Amino acid sequence: MDLAINQTHGMVCAHHHLYSSLARGMPGPEAPPLSFLDILESIWWKLDQALDLESIYWSAKLGALEALETGTTCIIDHHESPNAVEGSLSVIAEACTEVGVRVNTCYGITDRHPASSFPPKSMTEGARRGLEENRRFLSEGGKGMVGLHAAFTCSDETLANAASLAKEFNVGIHTHVAEGKIDIAAAERLNSLSQDDWILAHGVHLENEHGLRGTVIHNPRSNMNNSAGYAKPKRFSNPVGLGTDGIGADMIDEFRLGYARLRENDVTESPQAIWEMLEINAGLFPESQQDIVTWSYPNMDPWHLAFSLGVKPRDIVVAGKEVMKDGVVMTVDVDEIRSKAAEAASKLFKKLDELS
Ligand SMILES: [Zn+2]
Repeated sequence: MDLAINQTHGMVCAHHHLYSSLARGMPGPEAPPLSFLDILESIWWKLDQALDLESIYWSAKLGALEALETGTTCIIDHHESPNAVEGSLSVIAEACTEVGVRVNTCYGITDRHPASSFPPKSMTEGARRGLEENRRFLSEGGKGMVGLHAAFTCSDETLANAASLAKEFNVGIHTHVAEGKIDIAAAERLNSLSQDDWILAHGVHLENEHGLRGTVIHNPRSNMNNSAGYAKPKRFSNPVGLGTDGIGADMIDEFRLGYARLRENDVTESPQAIWEMLEINAGLFPESQQDIVTWSYPNMDPWHLAFSLGVKPRDIVVAGKEVMKDGVVMTVDVDEIRSKAAEAASKLFKKLDELS
């Protein structure tokens, strides 16, 4: 398919958390978090416990809408909602389909419920439920992978069971890897299990020669926000893609930031290095090649885009269907999604208050 110079194929976000779309404005932790584990425990692991199927639906729908509004037609999602496990992946898939965005989702299996020391010793009931949600979704024909939260919150038994489920369905594992120093043992623990179709999100604290197979996903904005450190993504021999880790799905913006961070570290670098990550993303979600985005900017070239802010899609065609025309989303009532999502967010924040 030939593209004009103001067009691209659909953008792919290679690591997203659609469940976090409602988190903006949520009540903050009592004390400022001092470490990556503090951030997880005081923010994200509270939010995921407060989710129910209704809040998951509106969170995914808002996230999918915001993705489409930035030209992203394909999302590789990683989900967790320990008090609403069963059916959660279908709710996410349904919300995305209604908006007209393609999604590949998974449930992040973990042994951290109930909380234990890291890594947990054996497989918990919570992990079993997560494993079964992945199995249910995949066996019903859902487009997905098998999710793992991260090696440090999983027992060896859980890691092995997740890997064999992924093999059974001929899909990869989607997991966080060495995002924080607390997960430094991930490479050693996953080494004998990993495959080329795995998605390894972050990899900040991986050794250069870590031995894991799979695509490393670089999430520059999230890593900066969590003070996780700079992943130096060019040092890996693995393919490297680009994700947002749940902070929207604007891939042109993430590209721009990824380039600025790369260049800060090495003045000889070029935007092409990060643009290539978007090409890796396209390989992870090949259906994106059937989608066409026509942009507001006349030249979709990495050297232009690195220094051009506010580039927006004008028209989007997904699988032959016009989902945006002249900047207007055609598939859903945008105002309705925003107001229902705001209602769902205030309910969610109330629940968070009760939980704390
Ligand atoms: Zn993540």
